[in-house]
Amino acid sequence: MASGTQGGTITIVRGRLLWFHHEPLGADDEASFTLIEDGGLVCRNGCIAWVGDWSDLPADHRDADYADHRPHLVLPGFIDPHIHFPQGQVVASYAGSLLEWLNTYTFIEEQRYGDPRFAATMAKRFCDMLLAHGTTTCVAFGSVHKGSATALLAEAATRNMRLVTGKVMMDRNAPEALTDTAQSGYDDTKALIADWHGEARLEVAISPRFALTSTDAQMEAAGALAREHPECLIQTHLSENHGEIEAVEALFPDAADYTDVYERFGLLTDKSLMGHCIHLSAREIGRMAETGAVAVFCPTSNLFLGSGLFDLDRIKGGGVRHAIATDIGGGTSWSLLKTLDEGYKVLNLQGHRYHPMRAFWQATLGNAEAIGMADRIGTLDAGTEADFIVLDARATEAMALRMETVETLAEELFVLQTLGDDRAVTAAYVAGRITHATA
Ligand SMILES: [Zn+2]
Repeated sequence: MASGTQGGTITIVRGRLLWFHHEPLGADDEASFTLIEDGGLVCRNGCIAWVGDWSDLPADHRDADYADHRPHLVLPGFIDPHIHFPQGQVVASYAGSLLEWLNTYTFIEEQRYGDPRFAATMAKRFCDMLLAHGTTTCVAFGSVHKGSATALLAEAATRNMRLVTGKVMMDRNAPEALTDTAQSGYDDTKALIADWHGEARLEVAISPRFALTSTDAQMEAAGALAREHPECLIQTHLSENHGEIEAVEALFPDAADYTDVYERFGLLTDKSLMGHCIHLSAREIGRMAETGAVAVFCPTSNLFLGSGLFDLDRIKGGGVRHAIATDIGGGTSWSLLKTLDEGYKVLNLQGHRYHPMRAFWQATLGNAEAIGMADRIGTLDAGTEADFIVLDARATEAMALRMETVETLAEELFVLQTLGDDRAVTAAYVAGRITHATA
């Protein structure tokens, strides 16, 4: 319920509030989160002005309308730090592995985003899909066309979403209609940054697709952008598939390994989001840790394309920052819940556990930390931006049946993670305004 007052637009929400303060060290790490069974949020001008027990709701709001989401959980909105805007219609394309998938489907589909009207239409549908799945912020690759990034930024601006995107830079090993040049990729990214970075809640990411599709000259241009714009995230792919790794090593024979290709061009920094990171050597993990680059775990994509099993314990043990993401459209679900579910299975196959408290920390505050926004999103702390979602752990008959025996918060989260998807997302709020709701 939003109402205009002298103090600005106010939204008041009641529900079971859950948010994290740091990565849970174990199942019983109660200091890592706050759960308020009957909580209230007061949002003003897009931010959380007050959070606490409903019984403590400030007196001047007690007679106001409010949205009552009890008994559902209210969490910070999910953050998807690796997703491809032009691949909503590539999901579920029948391919064996990464390079076949790229050449047969993806590099064909992405050409359509050269049409600004098509890109604008798809930007609306992309944002609708994000919110329906409880994702309130993403870091998205555009297509090679500057206009694709512009379309998505413009759409996010109309919704006041916090969103990061950039046009991918790719000047070789792709169809001619889908390549730029070192200079045009630089110029277009530079223009996007000038026009959009820091506008509303938007940021622009420097986006060399991956080393296989960029010449040395383009990698140098991307590195120059990174030096000139240290405020910008860098997004790319690293060590996803053995065929890809061999091809990259052949193209850059002077590099020590795949990771070194990025590092020697200045693209391995604490702003770098490196998708996949499945087959890294000990040296590469060491350099990732030392530079502060982020390894982005994309479990549904890695399973679908048969790329391999991301070893979170090895990455984390090596001191590397990490995140989890859908990687639509190599990934097979827009849902961070399904992504956590598949992540659990990938780790279980390696004999590791993925506790639901840790999983939900990752999809919210953990991913916010990975993209450098934990002071603004991924939390319900007062003073932060009011992006949050409502999750119903009884959304389907199977979930309701299972919930009859659930006694703890961790069990409830694990039901959401294992059985949940967009049907469990009953509402999404962006900057304090409800933007998606199911009956
Ligand atoms: Zn990707």
